Amino acid sequence: MSRFSLEGTRSFVTGANTGIGQAIAVDLAQQGSHVIAVGRSSMDDTLTAIRASGGTADALMADLGTVAQATAAFDAALAQFGPIDILVNNAGIIRRADSLDFSEEDWDAVMDINLKVVFFLSQAFARARIAAGQGGSIINIASLLSFQGGIRIPSYTAAKSGVAGLTKTLSNEWSSQGITVNAVAPGYVVSNNTEALRADPERNAAILERIPVGRWGQPEDIAGAVTFLASPAARFVTGVTLPVDGGWLGR
Ligand code: NAP
Repeated sequence: MSRFSLEGTRSFVTGANTGIGQAIAVDLAQQGSHVIAVGRSSMDDTLTAIRASGGTADALMADLGTVAQATAAFDAALAQFGPIDILVNNAGIIRRADSLDFSEEDWDAVMDINLKVVFFLSQAFARARIAAGQGGSIINIASLLSFQGGIRIPSYTAAKSGVAGLTKTLSNEWSSQGITVNAVAPGYVVSNNTEALRADPERNAAILERIPVGRWGQPEDIAGAVTFLASPAARFVTGVTLPVDGGWLGR
């Protein structure tokens, strides 16, 4: 079997209904993983795309905005579908406002789903894997804001920088037990998350001008890196946050 094959594995992908999460779900399934597509919106498009390319998947409806809801969804997946080998923490939100005016509500909402839930889902996953004496892979979706400060997105930058640190901590604790923990940091990718940026002609031109590859990323560009990190070919890769950014950080 190819070292890149995910045959015989089961993946739990959060926010799999659209954008980057959907592309990840489709890509993992194409390599043979059975995908549990998790989120609060209809997974019909994702399941259709996976099945059209010969893969298998189930949907699990859950709001992932709080730890209680997210870990209940993880427990439900274990009970309904069986052991999970790959966890992809993709679901996330962004709130934009000047830091002088930034509200506690926007701080908490972003920190909760983008960082706190990432930790507690990872904990639930690792507890299950270690109790079963099995390894596994966690892949967190970070951001360029794991490396840079950005502007008008204080909670997003704090959360995504936190994800990069957490990825290292969890790798240090769990990799000796066969669980690799990595993150992928997408550059500027066409999705709902970046709609406001692309709609602003000045921001759009400034972003494009800085991307060495010369175009916005597509969700599929991110998925390949996630699938690699989930595969046996990446078994000695752990604790890293891999930028997939068309060369942005190299400039
Ligand atoms: P997106 O289309 O907005 O996707 C975000 C996903 O998270 C959606 O599936 C969304 O579900 C889900 N989600 C948000 N809040 C949720 C909640 N309370 N419960 C369940 N699901 C929830 O944007 P995207 O670009 O694909 O974002 C995916 C990840 O990539 C995020 O972590 C984002 O920060 C990160 N990222 C994106 C970019 C980029 O340029 N696009 C760059 C760096 C990092 P709904 O559709 O139901 O809201």
